[in-house]
Amino acid sequence: MAASYDVIVVGGGPVGAACARELARAGRRVAVLEPGGRLGQAWQAAAGMLAPQIEAHGDTPLLELGLAGREHYSALAPELREATGIDIGLWREGIAWVAASETEAAELRSKVAWQRQHSHLSDWLDADEVKGIFRSAWQADYPSIENFLTPIYAKSAFPPEGSNYSKYDNPEFEKLLTQAAAAKSLDEANTLYQQAEGLLAEDFPTAPLWYYVTTSAWSDRVTDVKVNAFGVLDTEAIKVK
Ligand SMILES: Cc1cc2nc3c(=O)[nH]c(=O)nc-3n(C[C@H](O)[C@H](O)[C@H](O)COP(=O)(O)OP(=O)(O)OC[C@H]3O[C@@H](n4cnc5c(N)ncnc54)[C@H](O)[C@@H]3O)c2cc1C
Repeated sequence: MAASYDVIVVGGGPVGAACARELARAGRRVAVLEPGGRLGQAWQAAAGMLAPQIEAHGDTPLLELGLAGREHYSALAPELREATGIDIGLWREGIAWVAASETEAAELRSKVAWQRQHSHLSDWLDADEVKGIFRSAWQADYPSIENFLTPIYAKSAFPPEGSNYSKYDNPEFEKLLTQAAAAKSLDEANTLYQQAEGLLAEDFPTAPLWYYVTTSAWSDRVTDVKVNAFGVLDTEAIKVK
């Protein structure tokens, strides 16, 4: 017997799927048509941001619609988890926009002012104003314990010159770095660097989380393929057969 439906929705992206869901909840028999086995076009590429405020250009109906849509997710996310077992990972901590120039900073300041006037949550943070935990990354430039200490924890590495973003400042640590840099042998230097590292472990200015894995592949038409100490291919050494 041929199936029959009240409504056929053409396209199973967010718009089609949302319409089909609401229709089904209203008691309609719904079919969603989607070509091939691979669902979705635009939504497959989407970053998933719910960004009506940051993308707003003034007080338009689109902003109101976007804000209402964003609010709807608080109820929608648990409903979808309940119905499908899938957690959509709704995250409501806000979006940060970093001003890359004075011009952009001026534009963003006026955007923040406008949003606050209209009772939307929006804050301006100056440099160094982030007092909570933040994430950063470091990959060594050369294979030495020193390269994991001086450029990220020495006082001379305070931004903007260096990468001591936690502003770690310990005179004892500085003294050990200076002594290590003046050491007569590598062994002597490494012993001092290890003592400095011990101080870091006690003070714990940063929490090392993980070290990434680099995936490499090569063909049998080349030789001398080596992965260097930093986990990347040493392309200068590679020879073509
Ligand atoms: C790179 C990128 C990043 C984005 N980032 C964001 C973001 O961060 N936040 C955000 O909110 N939005 C974002 N978007 C926008 C968002 O993806 C779209 O607004 C949204 O996917 C539109 O939904 P839709 O259902 O209208 O279209 P689509 O997602 O394109 O779905 C349309 C569906 O129709 C199907 N279809 C097409 N023709 C037929 C046919 N003849 N018969 C049957 N089915 C058919 C397609 O296969 C597809 O599944 C982004 C878009 C892109 C491209």
